[in-house]
Amino acid sequence: MKKRIVVALGGNALGHKPEEQRELVRQTAKPIADLIESGHEVVISHGNGPQVGMINLAFSSGNVPRMPFPECGAMSQGYIGFHLQNALSEELLSRRIDRPVSTIITQVVVDENDPAFSHPTKPIGPFYSSDEAVRIAAETGYIMREDAGRGYRRVIASPQPLEVVESKTVKALIRAGQIVITVGGGGIPVIRKDNRLEGVAAVIDKDFASCVLATMIDADILIILTAVEKIALHYGKPQEKWLDKVTVREMEHYMQEGHFASGSMLPKVQASIAFAKTGRWRTALVTSLEKADDGIKGKTGTHISLY
Ligand code: ADP
Ligand code: MG
Repeated sequence: MKKRIVVALGGNALGHKPEEQRELVRQTAKPIADLIESGHEVVISHGNGPQVGMINLAFSSGNVPRMPFPECGAMSQGYIGFHLQNALSEELLSRRIDRPVSTIITQVVVDENDPAFSHPTKPIGPFYSSDEAVRIAAETGYIMREDAGRGYRRVIASPQPLEVVESKTVKALIRAGQIVITVGGGGIPVIRKDNRLEGVAAVIDKDFASCVLATMIDADILIILTAVEKIALHYGKPQEKWLDKVTVREMEHYMQEGHFASGSMLPKVQASIAFAKTGRWRTALVTSLEKADDGIKGKTGTHISLY
C-alpha cells in the first residue's frame, strides 16, 4: 500500500568531507530509491552537524566576513541538497524512473522565549584562549564557554521546532509526484516578528524537526535512518536487548529508565514517540540506512506506534 514517508538521514549517510559526501550519497540514494520504486511518497530530511561546523569554521578566520549562523545553515542545506538531489536523480534514472528531485531551503519557526535560549548548550566554531573569548564576547555578544579543557568556544541554543515554514510547498510538490529534500540540519531557525521571519543563531535537532515536518505534511511513517539496525535496551552492555515492535507507553517507560543516550538515541526516541502519539495510524521506524527497505516491510528495525 502506498504510504507517505519522511526519511530522516543521519550523519552516516553524509560523512564529513565534500568528496566523501559525494561518494556516500550514491549509496544513501539506493534505499531511498527502493522506497520510491515501491510506490511510496518520499520526503527526505537530514542532519548537518559536520557540514555546518565546517562552513562556520571557514568563515571564522582569515579575511572573510563573519557569517551569521543561520546563513551557515542555509549554505549547508544547499551544499548537502545539491549532492543528495544529484545522486538520487541519477539512481532513479538508472531504474528508468523519471521524477524531479529538488531541495527546498527550509526555515523552521522557534519560540524566542524557548527556555533553551537562556541555556545554550551546543558548542560551535573554533577554540579560543580565555583572553580571546572575552574579547569576542564583548565584540559580538556571543556566549563563550570552556569546552572540556580544550579552550573556549561559542555555544548556541537548541530550541524546539514549532512549525516548518515551507510545509505547503513540500505538500504541493508531493502531490505533483515530486521528491523533496527539506528541513536540512533541522531547518534554519527563525522567529516570527509579524510578517518577518528573523534567522536566529541556534541548532534545531533534525529528529525533532523531521517529526514536525512529518506531522505537518500528514505523513504515515517517519523513518529515522542511523548507524544501528534497531534501538536497544542496555545498549552496549551484556544484557543488551534489541527492540522490534514497541508501543508509545512502553517506550516512555524505557526512556524514563534511562536506556537512550542524550544527544544520540534519545532525540530519535522522543521524536518517534511524539510522531506516533499524533495518530494511531502513524508509525515511527528507527533502523539503519541499509535496512530501510526491510524495515518498511516489517522485517527489521524498531517500530513505535500508539498501540
Ligand atoms: P545520527 O547521526 O543518525 O543522528 P547519532 O550518532 O546521533 O546518529 O545516534 C545514533 C547512535 O546512537 C547509534 O549509532 C548508537 O551508537 C547510539 N545509541 C545510544 N543509545 C542507543 C540505544 N539505546 N540503542 C541503539 N543505539 C544507541
Ligand atoms: Mg544525531
